[in-house]
Amino acid sequence: MTGLGDLYQDVILDHNKRPRNFGKVPDANRTARGHNPLCGDHITLTLKVDGDRIEEIAFEGQGCAISKASASLMTSAVKGKSRSEAAALFDAFRKMVTGEPHSPEDRKVMGKLEVFSGVSEFPARVKCATLAWHTLKGALESPGNTVTTE
Ligand code: ZN
Repeated sequence: MTGLGDLYQDVILDHNKRPRNFGKVPDANRTARGHNPLCGDHITLTLKVDGDRIEEIAFEGQGCAISKASASLMTSAVKGKSRSEAAALFDAFRKMVTGEPHSPEDRKVMGKLEVFSGVSEFPARVKCATLAWHTLKGALESPGNTVTTE
């Protein structure tokens, strides 16, 4: 049984306090905003996409520790990845935080993102953890739109 203490693991607390890739990509060619009305989390992503590859990615916004740490870890995880690699990561991440069975291959690609596995025990937090990922999808598929988790 995972407790709330485990949910707020050191990695999450650290990324909340010192978020990576926080700010704006200066020569971004993609942007999307995300909003999780349940918790009040807001995020704006800026990306520089070159062909199929996410060259640069940064985020700004306000929200709870989970949403901020997730955005920080998400941007670190997808930087330099292709769209399909990012989509595969999102798929594996979504399965993990919603408690769906995921394969050993999924676990392998997760890396540090695995710190969010405890979120599956807190359904209200799932939207906090996936907000950045939904926003990324929005930025890649329909840039300029606001993505909401509702
Ligand atoms: Zn939240």
